[in-house]
Amino acid sequence: MEARKQPDYEILEFEGYTYHRQKKDRETPRGALGFPAEGGRKARTVAGFPQIQRVYRLKEGVKRLFGDESFFAEEKLDGYNARIFQQAGRLMAATRGGFICPFTTEWAGIWGEDKNLNRFFRDFPNYVLCGEVIGDNPYNWQRDPNLSPGAHFFVFEITAPDGRFLAPAERYRIVAEYGLPTVPRMGEHSAADIETLYELMRKLNDRGREGVVLKDRQGPRRLKFVTPTTDLQDIKDAMCIGFDLSSGFFFNRYLRASIFVQELGLDPEEYAPRIGWSFLDGCPDPQDFTEASETYTVFVKSEKTWDALCRQLKSRVRIVCDSRKPVRIIGRELLRIDFRRIYQKSSQRFKRILKGHLHTD
Ligand code: ATP
Repeated sequence: MEARKQPDYEILEFEGYTYHRQKKDRETPRGALGFPAEGGRKARTVAGFPQIQRVYRLKEGVKRLFGDESFFAEEKLDGYNARIFQQAGRLMAATRGGFICPFTTEWAGIWGEDKNLNRFFRDFPNYVLCGEVIGDNPYNWQRDPNLSPGAHFFVFEITAPDGRFLAPAERYRIVAEYGLPTVPRMGEHSAADIETLYELMRKLNDRGREGVVLKDRQGPRRLKFVTPTTDLQDIKDAMCIGFDLSSGFFFNRYLRASIFVQELGLDPEEYAPRIGWSFLDGCPDPQDFTEASETYTVFVKSEKTWDALCRQLKSRVRIVCDSRKPVRIIGRELLRIDFRRIYQKSSQRFKRILKGHLHTD
Protein backbone atom coordinates (compact mmCIF):
# COMPACT_ATOMS: atom_id res chain seq x y z
CA MET A 1 0.00 0.00 0.00
CA GLU A 2 1.33 3.42 -0.91
CA ALA A 3 2.19 5.51 2.13
CA ARG A 4 0.19 8.74 2.39
CA LYS A 5 2.44 11.64 1.45
CA GLN A 6 2.75 14.17 4.23
CA PRO A 7 2.35 17.75 2.98
CA ASP A 8 5.68 19.61 2.92
CA TYR A 9 4.10 22.83 4.11
CA GLU A 10 1.78 23.87 6.88
CA ILE A 11 -0.25 27.05 6.98
CA LEU A 12 0.24 29.21 10.06
CA GLU A 13 -0.89 32.59 11.24
CA PHE A 14 0.95 35.36 13.06
CA GLU A 15 -0.95 38.43 14.30
CA GLY A 16 -3.39 38.26 11.40
CA TYR A 17 -0.79 37.40 8.71
CA THR A 18 -1.02 34.01 7.03
CA TYR A 19 2.17 32.23 6.00
CA HIS A 20 3.41 28.83 4.91
CA ARG A 21 6.17 26.99 6.72
CA GLN A 22 8.31 24.39 4.95
CA LYS A 23 8.42 21.51 7.43
CA LYS A 24 11.20 19.33 6.03
CA ASP A 25 14.48 19.65 4.16
CA ARG A 26 13.85 19.08 0.44
CA GLU A 27 15.90 20.62 -2.39
CA THR A 28 15.70 23.74 -0.22
CA PRO A 29 16.29 23.81 3.55
CA ARG A 30 13.38 23.41 5.96
CA GLY A 31 12.12 26.49 7.73
CA ALA A 32 11.37 28.55 4.60
CA LEU A 33 8.41 30.90 4.99
CA GLY A 34 6.02 31.78 2.18
CA PHE A 35 3.79 34.85 2.32
CA PRO A 36 0.91 34.99 -0.20
CA ALA A 37 0.21 38.09 -2.31
CA GLU A 38 -2.04 40.27 -0.19
CA GLY A 39 -3.26 43.88 -0.05
CA GLY A 40 -1.15 44.98 -3.04
CA ARG A 41 1.96 43.16 -1.73
CA LYS A 42 3.66 40.57 -3.91
CA ALA A 43 4.00 36.96 -2.79
CA ARG A 44 7.33 36.40 -1.07
CA THR A 45 9.53 33.57 0.20
CA VAL A 46 12.04 33.84 3.05
CA ALA A 47 14.58 31.08 2.45
CA GLY A 48 15.30 28.49 5.14
CA PHE A 49 18.71 28.61 6.80
CA PRO A 50 20.90 25.75 5.51
CA GLN A 51 22.55 23.25 7.78
CA ILE A 52 26.23 23.96 8.49
CA GLN A 53 28.32 20.85 8.26
CA ARG A 54 30.57 19.97 11.14
CA VAL A 55 34.10 18.64 11.11
CA TYR A 56 35.63 16.64 13.92
CA ARG A 57 39.19 17.15 12.64
CA LEU A 58 39.97 20.69 11.62
CA LYS A 59 43.00 20.20 9.39
CA GLU A 60 41.52 17.41 7.28
CA GLY A 61 38.10 19.06 7.21
CA VAL A 62 39.48 22.37 5.98
CA LYS A 63 41.49 20.64 3.25
CA ARG A 64 38.50 18.57 2.19
CA LEU A 65 36.13 21.54 1.95
CA PHE A 66 38.35 24.41 0.81
CA GLY A 67 41.40 22.69 -0.71
CA ASP A 68 44.07 25.39 -1.03
CA GLU A 69 41.56 28.23 -1.26
CA SER A 70 41.28 30.81 1.46
CA PHE A 71 38.18 31.32 3.60
CA PHE A 72 36.95 33.66 6.33
CA ALA A 73 36.73 32.60 9.97
CA GLU A 74 34.08 33.97 12.32
CA GLU A 75 33.31 33.21 15.91
CA LYS A 76 30.37 30.86 16.39
CA LEU A 77 28.12 32.39 19.02
CA ASP A 78 26.09 30.09 21.22
CA GLY A 79 22.44 31.07 21.06
CA TYR A 80 19.66 30.46 18.58
CA ASN A 81 19.30 31.20 14.91
CA ALA A 82 16.91 33.98 13.89
CA ARG A 83 16.04 35.37 10.48
CA ILE A 84 14.78 38.94 10.59
CA PHE A 85 12.92 40.40 7.64
CA GLN A 86 10.54 43.19 6.78
CA GLN A 87 7.05 42.09 5.90
CA ALA A 88 3.88 44.19 5.68
CA GLY A 89 5.84 47.27 6.76
CA ARG A 90 7.18 45.79 10.01
CA LEU A 91 10.02 43.58 11.19
CA MET A 92 9.31 39.91 11.83
CA ALA A 93 11.64 37.18 13.05
CA ALA A 94 11.54 33.47 12.30
CA THR A 95 13.18 30.59 14.14
CA ARG A 96 15.22 27.94 12.35
CA GLY A 97 12.10 25.77 11.96
CA GLY A 98 10.26 28.57 10.18
CA PHE A 99 7.91 29.70 12.96
CA ILE A 100 7.47 33.43 13.38
CA CYS A 101 8.44 33.88 17.01
CA PRO A 102 6.51 36.50 19.02
CA PHE A 103 9.45 37.03 21.39
CA THR A 104 12.12 37.45 18.70
CA THR A 105 9.77 39.57 16.60
CA GLU A 106 9.22 41.93 19.52
CA TRP A 107 12.97 42.21 20.10
CA ALA A 108 13.53 42.69 16.35
CA GLY A 109 11.41 45.85 16.73
CA ILE A 110 13.69 46.98 19.58
CA TRP A 111 16.88 46.16 17.61
CA GLY A 112 15.28 47.97 14.66
CA GLU A 113 15.28 51.17 16.72
CA ASP A 114 18.38 50.67 18.88
CA LYS A 115 20.74 48.64 16.69
CA ASN A 116 20.20 50.22 13.27
CA LEU A 117 18.18 47.37 11.75
CA ASN A 118 15.51 49.84 10.56
CA ARG A 119 18.22 51.82 8.77
CA PHE A 120 19.34 48.67 6.97
CA PHE A 121 15.83 47.60 5.93
CA ARG A 122 15.01 51.07 4.59
CA ASP A 123 17.72 50.49 1.96
CA PHE A 124 17.38 46.67 1.66
CA PRO A 125 13.65 45.99 2.15
CA ASN A 126 13.69 42.52 0.55
CA TYR A 127 16.84 41.20 2.21
CA VAL A 128 17.01 39.02 5.31
CA LEU A 129 19.35 39.42 8.28
CA CYS A 130 20.37 36.05 9.70
CA GLY A 131 21.96 36.11 13.11
CA GLU A 132 22.39 34.57 16.52
CA VAL A 133 20.27 35.69 19.46
CA ILE A 134 22.05 35.40 22.80
CA GLY A 135 21.42 36.69 26.31
CA ASP A 136 18.04 36.34 28.05
CA ASN A 137 15.88 34.30 25.70
CA PRO A 138 13.35 31.45 25.77
CA TYR A 139 15.49 28.89 23.91
CA ASN A 140 18.89 28.86 25.69
CA TRP A 141 18.97 29.18 29.43
CA GLN A 142 22.79 29.41 29.68
CA ARG A 143 23.68 33.05 29.26
CA ASP A 144 27.03 34.80 29.03
CA PRO A 145 27.25 36.70 32.36
CA ASN A 146 29.11 39.55 30.64
CA LEU A 147 26.05 40.47 28.56
CA SER A 148 23.70 43.16 29.82
CA PRO A 149 20.10 42.10 30.63
CA GLY A 150 17.88 41.45 27.62
CA ALA A 151 18.28 39.68 24.28
CA HIS A 152 21.10 40.53 21.85
CA PHE A 153 21.30 39.91 18.11
CA PHE A 154 24.48 39.46 16.04
CA VAL A 155 24.33 39.25 12.25
CA PHE A 156 26.22 36.35 10.62
CA GLU A 157 24.70 36.22 7.13
CA ILE A 158 22.71 38.52 4.86
CA THR A 159 20.37 36.84 2.39
CA ALA A 160 19.62 38.57 -0.92
CA PRO A 161 16.09 38.38 -2.38
CA ASP A 162 17.16 35.44 -4.60
CA GLY A 163 17.82 33.43 -1.40
CA ARG A 164 21.63 33.52 -1.69
CA PHE A 165 24.00 34.71 1.03
CA LEU A 166 26.08 37.80 0.31
CA ALA A 167 29.80 37.08 0.19
CA PRO A 168 31.40 37.69 3.62
CA ALA A 169 33.46 40.69 2.41
CA GLU A 170 30.29 42.35 1.09
CA ARG A 171 28.48 41.64 4.37
CA TYR A 172 31.38 43.04 6.42
CA ARG A 173 31.16 46.24 4.39
CA ILE A 174 27.39 46.55 4.90
CA VAL A 175 27.37 45.79 8.64
CA ALA A 176 30.12 48.39 9.13
CA GLU A 177 28.33 50.99 6.99
CA TYR A 178 25.00 50.53 8.80
CA GLY A 179 26.46 49.95 12.25
CA LEU A 180 24.77 46.55 12.67
CA PRO A 181 25.80 44.24 15.52
CA THR A 182 27.79 41.37 14.08
CA VAL A 183 29.61 38.18 15.09
CA PRO A 184 33.33 38.67 15.78
CA ARG A 185 35.51 38.30 12.69
CA MET A 186 38.60 36.12 12.97
CA GLY A 187 40.37 36.87 9.71
CA GLU A 188 41.07 35.19 6.40
CA HIS A 189 42.94 31.87 6.43
CA SER A 190 43.77 28.81 4.38
CA ALA A 191 44.87 25.23 5.03
CA ALA A 192 48.47 26.48 4.82
CA ASP A 193 48.13 28.46 8.09
CA ILE A 194 46.41 25.75 10.10
CA GLU A 195 48.69 26.54 13.06
CA THR A 196 47.16 30.04 13.27
CA LEU A 197 43.69 28.48 13.29
CA TYR A 198 44.76 26.02 15.98
CA GLU A 199 45.97 28.92 18.09
CA LEU A 200 42.65 30.75 17.59
CA MET A 201 40.77 27.62 18.66
CA ARG A 202 42.93 27.12 21.76
CA LYS A 203 42.23 30.72 22.80
CA LEU A 204 38.49 30.36 22.20
CA ASN A 205 38.57 27.15 24.22
CA ASP A 206 40.39 28.85 27.11
CA ARG A 207 37.82 31.64 27.08
CA GLY A 208 34.94 29.13 27.15
CA ARG A 209 33.69 30.24 23.72
CA GLU A 210 31.80 27.91 21.41
CA GLY A 211 33.92 27.72 18.27
CA VAL A 212 34.22 28.97 14.70
CA VAL A 213 32.34 28.92 11.42
CA LEU A 214 34.55 28.99 8.33
CA LYS A 215 33.07 30.55 5.22
CA ASP A 216 33.77 30.54 1.52
CA ARG A 217 34.99 33.81 0.04
CA GLN A 218 32.22 33.74 -2.59
CA GLY A 219 30.20 30.55 -2.64
CA PRO A 220 27.96 28.70 -0.16
CA ARG A 221 30.57 26.46 1.53
CA ARG A 222 30.44 26.61 5.33
CA LEU A 223 31.97 24.49 8.08
CA LYS A 224 31.67 24.53 11.87
CA PHE A 225 34.14 23.41 14.51
CA VAL A 226 33.54 23.66 18.24
CA THR A 227 35.66 23.67 21.40
CA PRO A 228 35.74 20.95 24.08
CA THR A 229 34.98 23.48 26.80
CA THR A 230 31.53 24.03 25.24
CA ASP A 231 30.98 20.35 24.54
CA LEU A 232 31.80 19.41 28.14
CA GLN A 233 29.66 22.22 29.51
CA ASP A 234 26.78 21.00 27.29
CA ILE A 235 27.19 17.48 28.66
CA LYS A 236 27.07 18.72 32.24
CA ASP A 237 24.05 20.95 31.59
CA ALA A 238 22.17 18.27 29.65
CA MET A 239 22.67 15.35 32.02
CA CYS A 240 19.47 15.90 33.96
CA ILE A 241 17.35 16.09 30.79
CA GLY A 242 19.31 13.31 29.06
CA PHE A 243 16.33 10.98 28.54
CA ASP A 244 14.67 13.67 26.42
CA LEU A 245 17.68 14.00 24.09
CA SER A 246 18.77 11.91 21.15
CA SER A 247 20.98 8.95 21.99
CA GLY A 248 23.92 10.47 20.07
CA PHE A 249 23.93 13.70 22.09
CA PHE A 250 26.50 12.62 24.70
CA PHE A 251 28.57 10.28 22.54
CA ASN A 252 29.11 12.91 19.82
CA ARG A 253 30.26 15.48 22.34
CA TYR A 254 32.66 13.13 24.09
CA LEU A 255 34.08 12.07 20.77
CA ARG A 256 34.49 15.66 19.54
CA ALA A 257 36.14 16.75 22.78
CA SER A 258 38.56 13.82 22.69
CA ILE A 259 39.51 14.33 19.05
CA PHE A 260 40.04 18.05 19.69
CA VAL A 261 42.39 17.23 22.60
CA GLN A 262 44.41 14.97 20.28
CA GLU A 263 44.48 17.24 17.24
CA LEU A 264 45.25 20.46 19.06
CA GLY A 265 47.78 18.86 21.38
CA LEU A 266 46.01 19.72 24.63
CA ASP A 267 47.13 18.06 27.84
CA PRO A 268 45.35 14.69 28.29
CA GLU A 269 46.13 14.82 32.03
CA GLU A 270 44.02 17.95 32.27
CA TYR A 271 41.22 16.67 30.03
CA ALA A 272 40.75 13.17 31.41
CA PRO A 273 39.30 14.51 34.70
CA ARG A 274 37.41 17.32 32.95
CA ILE A 275 35.74 14.79 30.67
CA GLY A 276 34.83 12.64 33.65
CA TRP A 277 33.63 15.54 35.78
CA SER A 278 31.31 16.78 33.04
CA PHE A 279 29.19 13.67 33.52
CA LEU A 280 29.57 13.35 37.25
CA ASP A 281 28.86 17.02 37.98
CA GLY A 282 25.77 16.96 35.79
CA CYS A 283 24.30 13.87 37.42
CA PRO A 284 21.21 14.71 39.50
CA ASP A 285 21.68 14.73 43.26
CA PRO A 286 19.44 12.03 44.85
CA GLN A 287 18.94 14.23 47.94
CA ASP A 288 17.23 17.14 46.24
CA PHE A 289 16.04 15.96 42.84
CA THR A 290 12.48 17.08 42.20
CA GLU A 291 12.22 17.40 38.41
CA ALA A 292 14.28 17.65 35.21
CA SER A 293 13.91 21.27 34.23
CA GLU A 294 15.71 24.34 32.95
CA THR A 295 15.19 27.87 34.27
CA TYR A 296 14.82 30.79 31.89
CA THR A 297 14.44 34.54 32.14
CA VAL A 298 12.94 36.65 29.37
CA PHE A 299 12.02 40.31 29.04
CA VAL A 300 8.89 41.17 27.05
CA LYS A 301 6.89 44.32 26.42
CA SER A 302 3.52 42.88 27.43
CA GLU A 303 1.60 39.92 28.82
CA LYS A 304 0.27 39.45 25.30
CA THR A 305 3.75 38.62 23.96
CA TRP A 306 4.41 36.24 26.83
CA ASP A 307 1.04 34.48 26.27
CA ALA A 308 1.79 34.06 22.54
CA LEU A 309 5.32 32.79 23.26
CA CYS A 310 4.06 30.45 25.96
CA ARG A 311 1.46 28.97 23.58
CA GLN A 312 4.25 28.26 21.08
CA LEU A 313 6.60 26.74 23.66
CA LYS A 314 3.84 24.66 25.27
CA SER A 315 3.21 22.80 22.05
CA ARG A 316 6.48 20.95 22.68
CA VAL A 317 7.24 20.95 26.41
CA ARG A 318 5.61 21.77 29.77
CA ILE A 319 6.10 25.39 30.86
CA VAL A 320 5.64 26.76 34.37
CA CYS A 321 5.79 30.49 34.96
CA ASP A 322 7.42 31.29 38.34
CA SER A 323 7.29 35.08 38.44
CA ARG A 324 6.53 38.16 36.41
CA LYS A 325 7.48 41.66 37.44
CA PRO A 326 7.88 45.05 35.76
CA VAL A 327 11.47 46.23 35.34
CA ARG A 328 13.26 49.02 33.54
CA ILE A 329 16.03 47.94 31.18
CA ILE A 330 17.42 49.30 27.88
CA GLY A 331 15.54 52.55 28.57
CA ARG A 332 12.14 50.79 28.47
CA GLU A 333 9.55 49.46 30.88
CA LEU A 334 9.48 45.72 30.28
CA LEU A 335 8.10 42.66 32.00
CA ARG A 336 10.59 40.20 33.43
CA ILE A 337 9.31 36.63 33.27
CA ASP A 338 11.03 33.72 35.00
CA PHE A 339 9.87 30.33 33.83
CA ARG A 340 10.81 26.66 33.79
CA ARG A 341 10.78 24.17 30.95
CA ILE A 342 9.93 20.78 32.44
CA TYR A 343 11.07 17.59 30.74
CA GLN A 344 8.58 14.85 31.60
CA LYS A 345 10.45 11.80 30.38
CA SER A 346 13.69 12.66 32.20
CA SER A 347 11.79 13.71 35.34
CA GLN A 348 10.05 10.35 35.52
CA ARG A 349 13.08 8.23 34.65
CA PHE A 350 15.38 9.96 37.13
CA LYS A 351 12.78 9.77 39.90
CA ARG A 352 12.47 6.03 39.37
CA ILE A 353 16.26 5.57 39.22
CA LEU A 354 16.89 7.60 42.35
CA LYS A 355 14.13 5.78 44.27
CA GLY A 356 15.69 2.40 43.46
CA HIS A 357 13.10 1.07 41.01
CA LEU A 358 14.08 -2.05 39.09
CA HIS A 359 15.00 -1.59 35.43
CA THR A 360 15.24 -4.01 32.53
CA ASP A 361 18.06 -2.26 30.66
P1 ATP B 1 22.72 22.66 11.96
O1 ATP B 1 21.29 22.45 11.59
O2 ATP B 1 23.45 23.60 11.05
O3 ATP B 1 23.47 21.38 12.21
P2 ATP B 1 22.31 23.21 14.74
O4 ATP B 1 20.92 23.72 14.96
O5 ATP B 1 22.66 21.87 15.24
O6 ATP B 1 22.72 23.45 13.26
P3 ATP B 1 24.73 24.37 15.60
O7 ATP B 1 25.38 23.05 15.62
O8 ATP B 1 24.81 25.22 16.81
O9 ATP B 1 23.21 24.32 15.31
O10 ATP B 1 25.41 25.19 14.41
C1 ATP B 1 24.84 25.95 13.41
C2 ATP B 1 24.32 27.28 13.93
O11 ATP B 1 25.36 28.11 14.44
C3 ATP B 1 23.71 28.17 12.87
O12 ATP B 1 22.42 27.77 12.52
C4 ATP B 1 23.72 29.53 13.56
O13 ATP B 1 22.54 29.73 14.29
C5 ATP B 1 24.85 29.43 14.57
N1 ATP B 1 25.94 30.41 14.40
C6 ATP B 1 26.57 31.05 15.41
N2 ATP B 1 27.53 31.83 14.97
C7 ATP B 1 27.55 31.73 13.61
C8 ATP B 1 28.33 32.32 12.59
N3 ATP B 1 29.34 33.15 12.85
N4 ATP B 1 28.05 31.97 11.31
C9 ATP B 1 27.06 31.10 11.03
N5 ATP B 1 26.29 30.51 11.96
C10 ATP B 1 26.52 30.82 13.24
